Amino acid sequence: MKKIQMVDLVSQYQKIQDQVDKAILDVVRSSAYINGPEVKAFQSDLESYLGVKHVIPCANGTDALQIAMMALGLKPGDEVITATFTYVATAEVIALLGLTPVLVDVDEDTFGLNTDQVREAIGPKTKAIVPVHLFGQCADLETIMQIAKEHNLYVVEDTAQAIGSSYYFENGSSAKAGTIGDIGTTSFFPSKNLGCFGDGGAIFTNDDDLASKIRIIANHGQTVRYYHDMIGVNSRLDSIQAAILRCKLPHLDEYIKARQAVADYYDQAFANTPELKTPVRDSKSEHVFHQYTLQLAEGIDRNKLVEYLQTKDIPAMIYYPVALHMQKAYQDERYQKDDFPITNRLVSRVFSLPMHTELEKDQLEHITSEVLNFIKNH
Ligand SMILES: *Cc1c(COP(=O)(O)O)cnc(C)c1O
Repeated sequence: MKKIQMVDLVSQYQKIQDQVDKAILDVVRSSAYINGPEVKAFQSDLESYLGVKHVIPCANGTDALQIAMMALGLKPGDEVITATFTYVATAEVIALLGLTPVLVDVDEDTFGLNTDQVREAIGPKTKAIVPVHLFGQCADLETIMQIAKEHNLYVVEDTAQAIGSSYYFENGSSAKAGTIGDIGTTSFFPSKNLGCFGDGGAIFTNDDDLASKIRIIANHGQTVRYYHDMIGVNSRLDSIQAAILRCKLPHLDEYIKARQAVADYYDQAFANTPELKTPVRDSKSEHVFHQYTLQLAEGIDRNKLVEYLQTKDIPAMIYYPVALHMQKAYQDERYQKDDFPITNRLVSRVFSLPMHTELEKDQLEHITSEVLNFIKNH
């Protein structure tokens, strides 16, 4: 059996190595490292894949969120609602810009924003909502878009973990994650579902005005070279990364299917184990399984489970052990710990099993049988 990894980037690379190596060498030979033709080509490939009018590549997923926030023209003190159970980047950029992150709890099945709490959190200073499509499944976008419409708020979808997922509306229509709110953002960090070989990110929008503002902000706020109309940042996807992403994008749907097949295997193996709550698949969103995250029943020691798996050469991770409302940097007198009962339980109960495109049957058998072994003996 091959060594089990949380993410196996080497095996995935080897399958398309000739093509990727050539794409990298072509960029090196042309030396068009910055804003080369590969960046434009990838942008247009991704626009077609997502069915969105504008893709603006940038340096990473955190920058994508920051630039999106900057493009909305918010003022210091404006409030932005987001989840407390997420990766820190989402709240970080809000706070960095002098805006106020307003944290809310999540839904216990989908880990998406809890829409009842979103409604309660809206006040006169609220300007935007940032749903995070955590672990690969969309938040309740239909309700979030409805709330945003009622209160005239922007929606920025953090799609770093859910690129390629489709969202299905009540009326039968569907759209790709990240193309439904005013702006969508994503990351091409190597371990994401569409990863490059370093840092990368992108911003999506169907709005022409926002797109042109985003392009200007990502390029030092300049409209014409050396004329700066806005305060901007320097955030570019480099040509080598774009060339790699162009090779990988045509495989994204197949990568998603491979992840879903792993999830199906885990689901079946754990179906009759009440101590394990497997990921709930919402009928309104395709789950693209950035992570396969289970909830362990109360009374079973999660750390012991993770340690036990380690002794069997099975990596398992805890995403995320500390919610934002409990982080030193994000503590705020407006919150009490008890305001987030679902997240408080999740941080002590969730664990994620290896999830990637190259998992093999014997590895899955080993992982599931050892998880079940531990549960049986505890
Ligand atoms: C990875 C991630 C980001 C940040 O992306 P980087 O490319 O690492 O900056 C933002 N939000 C979420 C939910 C993520 O998972």
